[in-house]
Amino acid sequence: MDKFYYIGIDIGGTKIKIGVVDNLGRVYHRESIITAENLNEDVVVKNLAAIVNRLQKTFPDIYGVGIGCAGLISHTEGIVIFSPNIGWRNFQLVPKLKALTGLKVVLDNDANAAAWGTFFLNYSGKYSYLMCVALGTGIGGGLILDGCLYRGANGAAGEIGHMTFIPDGPECSCGNKGCIEIYSGTKGILRSAQAKVANNPKSFILKFLEDEKITPKSISLAAEAGDKGAQAIWEETGERLGTAFASVINLLNLQAIHITGGLSLAQEWLEPSINRTIRKRAFDTPADVVDIIFGKQKKDMGLIGSGLLVLGKYQQDLL
Ligand SMILES: [Zn+2]
Repeated sequence: MDKFYYIGIDIGGTKIKIGVVDNLGRVYHRESIITAENLNEDVVVKNLAAIVNRLQKTFPDIYGVGIGCAGLISHTEGIVIFSPNIGWRNFQLVPKLKALTGLKVVLDNDANAAAWGTFFLNYSGKYSYLMCVALGTGIGGGLILDGCLYRGANGAAGEIGHMTFIPDGPECSCGNKGCIEIYSGTKGILRSAQAKVANNPKSFILKFLEDEKITPKSISLAAEAGDKGAQAIWEETGERLGTAFASVINLLNLQAIHITGGLSLAQEWLEPSINRTIRKRAFDTPADVVDIIFGKQKKDMGLIGSGLLVLGKYQQDLL
């Protein structure tokens, strides 16, 4: 395949990152603007168009612009339906940016963009059925099915973090009760740690505080030092994640689950427990073929994945 250049735009709550990437995921240029200074829709479109038009002069072979944005997105219409962190509602981002730049512009949810980038750069040709899971404060997901990014009927697919784990559990930020994210995201893990420490003031977790607070790293360091309570927290987290994964594996017959995010640093404790739970709960036939992979999130994957969205949407034109 010949080399093509894309502009990737990764819109986050703090920064909007803009970069030029090629179809091998190499980044040739990066810059950013502050999200808080670009909340107004006309202002952000004007600023982004100015940057895109400037970059087109330096990189005349730019094929299109891919944008990843947190929130609910209409991929087909190119509209940010609602982005809670940024406050945009029904923002016609793609039509407006297209009009000012004359380029192909594609918009998707940021988790989908990252999943697409991960698949395209690491697994294309190896797996066609993949789920990417980011473990952190939230538990985000993105699905690749039959080699394509799977968005569902109106773009809301892949929300593994909001699968119900305990029907009457605590309320989640999404409004549902007992989502898996409540138990296996950072807050849930810290809640378990607080309970362990309250029951056992000699817990090693208290030896590894950061800024006098318990963090996921405190629990990992205590687990490494042999603290049984800390090890149990990660094992229990792995069991919960494994339970959710087993359901997804039975439903979708995936070839791989790619796990990233801050909490994935506890791989040593999570991995055996996740694998054991999947073997226990999922059917043997799909469980036999699924690889559980702990991967490092490549730096700038949001930006790269966003840029590569153009290649996903317009791939047919390029081949
Ligand atoms: Zn939820």
